[in-house]
Amino acid sequence: MQNPFQNAMAQLEKVAKVKDLGDEFLMRLRQPDRDIRVSIPVKMDDGSMKIFEGYRVQYNNALGPYKGGLRYHEDTEINEVKALGFWMVLKCGVAGIQMGGGKGGIAVDPGKLSKGELEGLTRGWTDRLSDVLGPYKDVPAPDVNTTPEIMGWIADEYAKITGDKTGAVTTGKPLGQGGSEGRNTATAQGGFYVFETLKQELQLPKKCNVVIQGFGNVGSNAALIWHKAGHTVIAVSETQGGIYNSNGLDIEKLVEFKKKNGNISGFSQKDSQNIEITNQELLALECDLLIPAAFENQLTKDNAGEIKAKVILELANGPTTPEADEILFQKNIPLVPDILANAGGVIVSSFEWEQNLKNEHWSEEEVFKKLKEKLEESSKKMLEKSREHKTSMRIGAFILALERIKDKMS
Ligand code: NAD
Repeated sequence: MQNPFQNAMAQLEKVAKVKDLGDEFLMRLRQPDRDIRVSIPVKMDDGSMKIFEGYRVQYNNALGPYKGGLRYHEDTEINEVKALGFWMVLKCGVAGIQMGGGKGGIAVDPGKLSKGELEGLTRGWTDRLSDVLGPYKDVPAPDVNTTPEIMGWIADEYAKITGDKTGAVTTGKPLGQGGSEGRNTATAQGGFYVFETLKQELQLPKKCNVVIQGFGNVGSNAALIWHKAGHTVIAVSETQGGIYNSNGLDIEKLVEFKKKNGNISGFSQKDSQNIEITNQELLALECDLLIPAAFENQLTKDNAGEIKAKVILELANGPTTPEADEILFQKNIPLVPDILANAGGVIVSSFEWEQNLKNEHWSEEEVFKKLKEKLEESSKKMLEKSREHKTSMRIGAFILALERIKDKMS
């Protein structure tokens, strides 16, 4: 597997060739401000003790407090966390919010822990890092395998240590603990607003055939949102493989099925038109819109040549390697980059932070209205930048973000 941080830096070098950003600025962006590794001892249910490795990368805070998700995954390692931290810096820049970028993680398969062990691990991570976290320092949020409940445990532990009960130390909390309306679906909803803003520009039909890789929080919500808007979701997949139906999948039933069974395997038997496919077959399907919503490095130099989608909208972070990016650009397949397409999560996170600090609670309608305004504006500005420099939307988005960050750093 490619080192995601090298990919992120390769993207930065590519931007530097299109836009002169100054050597000093680039030097500062080639490494995080801080890169923290902690060991977390956890008392397991059988009485034994286990040590887990945790991370927090505080990449850059020129625009505001470090902000970024916390990921629980057995393959999580420092280069992945650094890359995700870097992309968060840019994402906040593109989104036009007053937040910097960071990311955290713990190398753990949370499915192997009991709820009590998971809580102990989360509180342990918070204890180790409480000095560097805080509403005006660093504000974690959910990412892969971390839930509102986990964010609530962090806020509670932080309040016990520091006495700060605003809850603004994390976002993505349960509603009863200061969470924002709309946060759970914000990433997918934001992606939809970006798609709607750019649809005409990208010459997409009114009703699109959509393929989605990944059926977790982001992928399943995206499937529901596009489906409800009248588009046809023809295929989705998870780690084990995917399901294809040329007439469109019954997304509501599939979501119910996943809720009951934990994954989508076996759903193909529910409709004679459903066909089981591999993830590679899914990526190569003919469609109007391909949405990677799983993990990094899914579109690579080995499969980019096979892609037949008219447009790609990245809801996952870093799903496309730099080589694949180049191949897709040469093939004239427009790609809406992750730092814009999936910024809905962090934008609503910033709304949650603001609500906590002001002791307010906004309605879902208000949250989505503000989200839509922000993403429409950012999408248009990104397009302007990519046109001005005759480059891809990814580089246009990088330039937009980097100019905003540079203004604050100098
Ligand atoms: P999740 O754990 O809820 O879901 C991940 C999904 O991807 C699961 O359905 C899993 O089975 C599937 N998957 C994993 N590897 C796969 C593979 N090789 N092929 C096909 N499917 C695969 O995670 P999530 O929160 O939905 O996040 C998905 C992506 O979106 C990640 O890249 C994450 O960083 C990004 N993201 C999430 C948020 C958020 O608010 N949750 C915000 C911004 C970006």
